[in-house]
Amino acid sequence: MELDTIITGGTIVTGQSMFDAAVAIDDGTVVDVGSERSLPEADRRIDATGLLVLPGVVDPHVHLAGYNSVDSYESGTAAAAAGGVTSVVNFAWQGFQEETRDWCDDGTLTEAVDRHREKMDSVLVDAGLHPVITSEDPAVFDELPALVEAGFPSFKMFTTDSIRLSHGFMEQLFDQFASLGAVGMVHTEDHSVCERRTQELKESPSPTAYSASRPPHSEAMAADSAVRLALEADAKYYGVHTTSGAATDVIRSHKRDGSNVRAETCTHYTVFDERVYERLGNLAIMAPPLREPEDIEALYDGLRDGTLTIVSSDHVAATRERKEQDDWWDSPKGVNSLQTGLSVFHDEAVIQRDFSYPDLVRLKCERPAQTFGMPMKGRIEPGADADIVLFDPDETYSVSAAENHSKADFSIYEGRELTGRVKKTLLRGKLVADNGEIVADPGHGELLARTVPRWSHD
Ligand SMILES: [Zn+2]
Repeated sequence: MELDTIITGGTIVTGQSMFDAAVAIDDGTVVDVGSERSLPEADRRIDATGLLVLPGVVDPHVHLAGYNSVDSYESGTAAAAAGGVTSVVNFAWQGFQEETRDWCDDGTLTEAVDRHREKMDSVLVDAGLHPVITSEDPAVFDELPALVEAGFPSFKMFTTDSIRLSHGFMEQLFDQFASLGAVGMVHTEDHSVCERRTQELKESPSPTAYSASRPPHSEAMAADSAVRLALEADAKYYGVHTTSGAATDVIRSHKRDGSNVRAETCTHYTVFDERVYERLGNLAIMAPPLREPEDIEALYDGLRDGTLTIVSSDHVAATRERKEQDDWWDSPKGVNSLQTGLSVFHDEAVIQRDFSYPDLVRLKCERPAQTFGMPMKGRIEPGADADIVLFDPDETYSVSAAENHSKADFSIYEGRELTGRVKKTLLRGKLVADNGEIVADPGHGELLARTVPRWSHD
């Protein structure tokens, strides 16, 4: 038997260990991992000498193709591929109307998912969807079983902004999620606290006021209520973009052996504190905001002790022109980082702190795949999809938005010197990105239909 590809000479990293071995790939799947001499011949040999062989990054929190993102599926997944991300999960917003760019109360989740599926032809990596419940129409309850069955077993809810849900409605949703095994993801900030503070702070013209408009206690308050609702229903809870020590403490206080409470943070919260608003102004506005230096260390403590289990990008592509509104409160929220996130977090966590490469693989690959029902992803083992990143842990480079595949024309990491760089990205055995260039045709990626996740493992 002749295989498609063998990757030789590299060091494989799993969530548990690192070892020198070759990877054999056939028909898009990892078929063997072992010494090169023990593996059959292959058509193609990729030399990974001096490189780490990582599972492709699984990013469960990205915004592409619509609402708050100017990226198309093609541009966003090109950024992903160049950055070593081989699976993304995007959001399908129930009530968002592309034509009017406004919210309505009568959209269905199924329509929202279908609208995205129609736009996915050009994906370069695999892409799934979280339906987002944006209005309190009880008709949504009837939609949930079929959506879970169709490969969308996680749903997002907001506690703030115009699409917020009441606790009473969320309680009913968590009951449904529990019976279906689905994950309830919540953006947690207290609406009235953020609203009142934002109005008051509009007297301050500088974007440095932004942090105080959405404070850590409002995040912690909302997280506490949302987790309690999920625990009461015995449903899976996923805290979206944890930013503060206060919110991390809330998650920790509710997390017990066997409890279904998990949470992520995002790349930017592990790097920058609120002083960045002095330097970058509106460009660094995302919700929730950047916090104090102590919060960054509290997030790393949470990642170390297992309170936080995933680092996602929360990638939102906007142009500099749209971000730089006169008034900070009018600026669209979100920053782009699909292309840089792996290198940035590697530099911060592994190079500058005490995190190991298996830690990196658990936080960026293994846990996201396991948490959101992607059993073929996030691991390099026989039977798994051959989604593989060759990563040079020693190469240094300086971030430049000029290299963005995303339609975002700036980066909050502009000029930052990073150690560690993605050299090649393979999706199901096919090379999609090579030294930052896209080398596959759009459409090589597929819709990622997910399974109901089992959360018993950690
Ligand atoms: Zn987001």
